[in-house]
Amino acid sequence: MNAVVKGKRQAGADIIKTNAPKIKESEVLVEVEAASICGTDVHIWNWNEWAQHRMKKIPLVFGHEVAGKVIEVGKNVTSIQVGDKISAETHIVDNTCYQCRTDRKHVCKNMEILGVDRDGVFAEQFALPEENAWKNDPRLDLGVASIQEPLGNAVQTVLPKDHVEDIAGKTIAVLGTGPIGLMTIAVLRELGAARVFATGGGLNKIRMDLAKKMGADMVLSAREEGERLVKTIVDATDGNGVDVALEMSGDPNAVRQAFEMLTPGGRVSLLGILDKPMELDLNAAMIFKSATVFGITGRRMFETWYQVRGLLAKPSFKEKISTVITHRVPIGDISKGMELIGSKQAAKIVLEPKW
Ligand SMILES: [Zn+2]
Ligand SMILES: [Zn+2]
Repeated sequence: MNAVVKGKRQAGADIIKTNAPKIKESEVLVEVEAASICGTDVHIWNWNEWAQHRMKKIPLVFGHEVAGKVIEVGKNVTSIQVGDKISAETHIVDNTCYQCRTDRKHVCKNMEILGVDRDGVFAEQFALPEENAWKNDPRLDLGVASIQEPLGNAVQTVLPKDHVEDIAGKTIAVLGTGPIGLMTIAVLRELGAARVFATGGGLNKIRMDLAKKMGADMVLSAREEGERLVKTIVDATDGNGVDVALEMSGDPNAVRQAFEMLTPGGRVSLLGILDKPMELDLNAAMIFKSATVFGITGRRMFETWYQVRGLLAKPSFKEKISTVITHRVPIGDISKGMELIGSKQAAKIVLEPKW
């Protein structure tokens, strides 16, 4: 089969012919019908510092956001059948460690990530444990099906503990307008947020326009606003500040701004990953503000998948989310997709199985 393989510890990747994966008794074999490019894949492609430290197994088929059809099931598989349309929960967990046994599988101590620690989905076929196969509505658009995984990250950032009470009727800021930030805006609107503010780097008009389309009431360019950014948002909330700030950029300035624009007693969720350690005045940011802070990684298994399914059941939401997909390119042209992302001309890119 064809596969996109990271074969050398350097930038880029190769499209090569390789053997189709052999499944274990508790795994399913999936034919890829659509995949999408995640920030993680861009890091692996560019071979940045994170990838250099994180990637142990080379050569590796990368990619993890996917929609596909099951073409073979292992002997012990009971819940999935040949022909089922599925997406993949990308956390492959041991189910036996302390975290797994206390309802926190998404931070399993022995976790493997699809397309990072084991062969992923940028191929014609891939193997997946039965537990990680999420059955899709066969009518669901394949592109949308493939972006359920990052949509789950958005849901986890908005609802880290099932509590919707600080969303409905409240004011929320989303810092960062990458694909997950954009999807988050749409989720907030669906859950009844009163006002949504979005801030982003400012260079990327495509993403700023998409933020409006997703339902942001005010979209601010962090670059243009500069020092005024926090004041503009605080003024727009009668001087109170926002009830919830969701940090999705990983920019240290945005992290500080998230706390500065927060109303005392409010909540911050931090999803964006920082390049390096940063300084933050904890007294002002959290302690005297009585702030609740959530670190967000991955998505709860499998609560967020049910939440995503529930959201996508509404046609208007599904339609909105599908507009985050700005390009569909043949997987054979993956380098073009990476270029589009690099030039910030794209939000989500879906790869179609044309080699
Ligand atoms: Zn992803
Ligand atoms: Zn575990």
